Amino acid sequence: TDFGFERVRLAEKQDRVNEVFRSVAKRYDLMNDLMSGGLHRAWKSAFVSSVRPSRTRPFRLLDVAGGTGDIAFRTLEAGGPDTKVTVLDINEAMLGVGRERAGHRYGSRIDFVAGNAESLPLPSDTFDAYTIAFGIRNVPRIENALAEAHRVLKVGGRFLCLEFSHVDVPGLDKIYEAYSFKVIPRIGAMVAGDKESYQYLVESIRRFPTPGSFSRMIEQAGFGHVTHRPLSGGICAIHSGWKL
Ligand code: SAM
Repeated sequence: TDFGFERVRLAEKQDRVNEVFRSVAKRYDLMNDLMSGGLHRAWKSAFVSSVRPSRTRPFRLLDVAGGTGDIAFRTLEAGGPDTKVTVLDINEAMLGVGRERAGHRYGSRIDFVAGNAESLPLPSDTFDAYTIAFGIRNVPRIENALAEAHRVLKVGGRFLCLEFSHVDVPGLDKIYEAYSFKVIPRIGAMVAGDKESYQYLVESIRRFPTPGSFSRMIEQAGFGHVTHRPLSGGICAIHSGWKL
């Protein structure tokens, strides 16, 4: 036994993550634009084009770690009148910004739920797709989140994850490394007055598993036909799997 130390460490990680997103919620969208040079918009559009909501039939998406609603809004715009999205996030501050941004535009086609990716407060076999964008590396026990994704999807449903990955283009890797360790925390310090939060984000990207090992984790959670696709030379990757 580890006398519960591991549990305490993981709980501390989640507390730290929550503190980061509480502190950046209001400036989150601006910071994304600044730090990615607007690229996050292109990544999110590529990601949502894999979701392919039906324009004619009912389609239910669960967007976990949905934050300020970017993936949800794009999916609702691509889908038909029977496309519905549930945005789930552990952080009320992020959900608050998302709700505000949604306004009354989507009516009952969108709802916001506070919850933890590791134990979703949602029934099994419910969703046609599960998305998580720039969220899973913040979750302390990724295996639990994957198991929960599998549980809430319908048979035939799709798991999709957009996450920072590992740059594998010679030359670009050095530039990216310098950019993320030197420039990003500085932008964080200047705009959000919070260098440490951004330091944490950069480190969490470095520690995230490679595309190959993350694919194996998705398979171990029970998904089939698992694939991954790099974006922008591997700065990000889209992982996909099906509940068969
Ligand atoms: N998906 C949004 C996007 O792409 O802009 C937000 C991504 S943001 C980098 C990460 C989000 O994950 C934050 O809103 C944070 O509150 C949320 N988060 C962190 N841990 C979580 C957990 N255990 N369960 C659910 N959401 C979590």
